[in-house]
Amino acid sequence: MVFKKKCLISLILVISQIFFYFPTIGQAESADPIYQTLLSGKRILKERNFIEEEKATVYLTFDDGPSELTPKVLDILKKEGIKATFFVVGKAAEQNKKIIKRIVEEGHSIGNHSYTHQYKNLYSSFSDFWQEIQKTEKVIYDITGIRTSLVRTPGGTYKNWDSFYFYFMDQADYLVYDWNVDSGDSKRIGVPAKEIIATVKQSKVTKKLIVLMHDSKSHVNTVGALPSIIKYYKEKGYQFKALSEQVEPIIQPETATRWKRNNEFEIRDTFVREVEKKKIAEVEQKEEQKDKLVDVWMVEPYYEKIGEVIYSYQDEMWWLPLKQAPILLDTRVMVDERTKIIRLYKENTSLMIRGQELKRIGQEWYIPLIPAIQVFQKNIHWNEEMTYLILEQDDQGSFVTKEESIWSKIISSWETGFQTIVTRLSRIYFTFPSLFLYTYRN
Ligand SMILES: [Zn+2]
Repeated sequence: MVFKKKCLISLILVISQIFFYFPTIGQAESADPIYQTLLSGKRILKERNFIEEEKATVYLTFDDGPSELTPKVLDILKKEGIKATFFVVGKAAEQNKKIIKRIVEEGHSIGNHSYTHQYKNLYSSFSDFWQEIQKTEKVIYDITGIRTSLVRTPGGTYKNWDSFYFYFMDQADYLVYDWNVDSGDSKRIGVPAKEIIATVKQSKVTKKLIVLMHDSKSHVNTVGALPSIIKYYKEKGYQFKALSEQVEPIIQPETATRWKRNNEFEIRDTFVREVEKKKIAEVEQKEEQKDKLVDVWMVEPYYEKIGEVIYSYQDEMWWLPLKQAPILLDTRVMVDERTKIIRLYKENTSLMIRGQELKRIGQEWYIPLIPAIQVFQKNIHWNEEMTYLILEQDDQGSFVTKEESIWSKIISSWETGFQTIVTRLSRIYFTFPSLFLYTYRN
């Protein structure tokens, strides 16, 4: 990973601080060097660390959703095995909570695209813009638990924002992304898929691409064009990624805004994210979630802890320490040091695990748990909190899912119970026939 320092504090600011900055009580903002710099149209952004892409990377982005088309986009992304970013409109998010959840569950990024998408409201005053960003942030947070800092402003920053908008948003630690490839799917209503594909193919192919597309309900042709766009970038050798706070934004060059609005520099202290502290705490907590050690318990013939496995939050997989494979899976293990292939085998069944499928933590080798479970036909289930796993021996020799396993358990316990009752009743009947006769006579 290469860290790149980005310093955007302008020389003018430094000079003005040295020569003209004489703080006085009740100083008017007109004498404030930051104000003066912003007024001149220069941007002032904090110094931040970003991770530079090692490979050619394309970030597909979808604006204006979610809508009834979004699940179709998600289906395509899932089929292609790639991740993207959805800049959602707060109002639409409120009406499509399930889709918002699905976006996050399937590993895509979610960003803020204002609440109403009404340019006039958003660009006539920063206060109104700010309110919409806050409102949408809360909508997304309430649905997903994610406090997103990724923002794309409706229509892009070009000619809509000025350096004050950049400054206020940057001070609140939002990251604002424009694009460097416009698919042209919003040029007019009903741009044909062919034209969208052609526009993308004619666009530049630099190492890092942020592609603008739309998934509101009128963009059915974008959905039609998407598979060809993905194919095109795959053939060019690009990797597909979702935006994150580690990705340096692409923003349009400085330009004058076409909107007239009042100066709000004086009330800049009010543009503070309410939950800023909470967000930092959440991020810190997430970073601590590396691997979770989980006990494995045998169910029959008696409860006993027989080993440990690891759940990795990073790759979202269960891992089994190799040395525990003989106990937990009842298999033999053969390690070929030369070819770095591990073979688990039991009677006529075997599983080959190649070096790259293994994980090494400290001195221990780990194998992926789920494939091994499936091959060696063990039942496995875990409690809701995932604090322990349960392995079951399966006498039928077939892999049974959790639900089936519970049902068969219920049925078998019911059968056993029924047999016990019958046996006991008949025993009573045969042992004490006189008792029954006696009762009957009376
Ligand atoms: Zn938009």
